[in-house]
Amino acid sequence: MPWCDDCDRYLAPNTVSAEGTCPTCDATVDATDVEQPAPVKAPWHFWVMVAALIAYLGWRVIQAGIWVVNGF
Ligand SMILES: [Zn+2]
Repeated sequence: MPWCDDCDRYLAPNTVSAEGTCPTCDATVDATDVEQPAPVKAPWHFWVMVAALIAYLGWRVIQAGIWVVNGF
C-alpha cells in the first residue's frame, strides 16, 4: 500500500495518480509501494470445475451419440 507522509494515511493503489502523487495533497508517494495488480491466477477449484464441466459435456456428447446410433 502506498503511504502518504503528509496525510498520514495509506492510499488505495488506484487512487494514486499515474505520476505517483497523492490525490489529496499532491505529494509524491513512495512509488515502489504502488502495487501492480497481480496477474489473475485461477484457483484450483476453478480447474476442478472446468474438468467436471468437460467430463459432463463429454458424457453428454457420448450419450447423444448413443441415442443417435440407437435411433433414440
Ligand atoms: Zn497526501
